[in-house]
Amino acid sequence: MSAEPAPSPDVPAIEVVGLHKSFGDLEVLKGVDLTVAPGQVVCVIGPSGSGKSTLLRCVNRLEEPTSGSVRIEGIDILDPEIDLDRVRARIGMVFQQFNLFPHLSVLRNLTIAQRRVLGRGRAEAVEVARHNLERVGLTDKVDAYPAHLSGGQQQRVAIARALSMNPDLMLFDEPTSALDPELVGDVLDVMRDLAHSGMTMMVVTHEMGFAREVGDEMIFMDGGVVVESGRPREVLSDPRHARTRAFLSKVL
Ligand code: ADP
Ligand code: MG
Repeated sequence: MSAEPAPSPDVPAIEVVGLHKSFGDLEVLKGVDLTVAPGQVVCVIGPSGSGKSTLLRCVNRLEEPTSGSVRIEGIDILDPEIDLDRVRARIGMVFQQFNLFPHLSVLRNLTIAQRRVLGRGRAEAVEVARHNLERVGLTDKVDAYPAHLSGGQQQRVAIARALSMNPDLMLFDEPTSALDPELVGDVLDVMRDLAHSGMTMMVVTHEMGFAREVGDEMIFMDGGVVVESGRPREVLSDPRHARTRAFLSKVL
């Protein structure tokens, strides 16, 4: 359990203001503003190369923003004085490529960071791991190795691993894009349950059905800016901007 005080409902879970990010001469994020309230599910859509992954990676400072501010639960994560590891421990991240440790069993994949980063003892780490494997429907895979699991099972293990750190919020970067179509549904079911449990989530996805059903808000990015945002149903059925309409006409 985290020793941090519970986040206040008045403080945004994520607050991004004027975020710019360049790689050399390439300006990838050109002033992004967004706010995610505690418990909210925000889905980010947009064409390839529009900066969605870079945005998510700036939110937990896997990338160093060029300018602008990022606050997590009110804490300015660009402040050089803060303990970045502590802030990061509150943020779970799930990638397109599941990034499990191939040489470790499912159980050890779920316990290693709990023990090394959170300092939990073995018994507690195992209990937390088992609880989260149950949440994703994989208690029978506790001793399996990643290579013996389907892509969908590996992604559910990756989600359980992130949850085992008791994050306050979760970032998902196209979590189902690498999966065979028949495996996508199980992963989305787990994410839907998580959303309904009250988890704050920022999800880059092309799964418009999921976004429409589960998302509280949808953000359409193009060319490094937020072109429009709103209720998913409204953005999807009545987009205000021509760029959004052009994108949706290709993917829907
Ligand atoms: P998206 O996730 O929307 O497809 P990305 O954020 O991955 O977009 O990438 C946006 C742009 O930034 C692309 O042109 C990509 O090539 C570039 N880019 C991303 N990461 C790096 C990096 N580490 N170094 C240089 N260019 C990068
Ligand atoms: Mg991406």
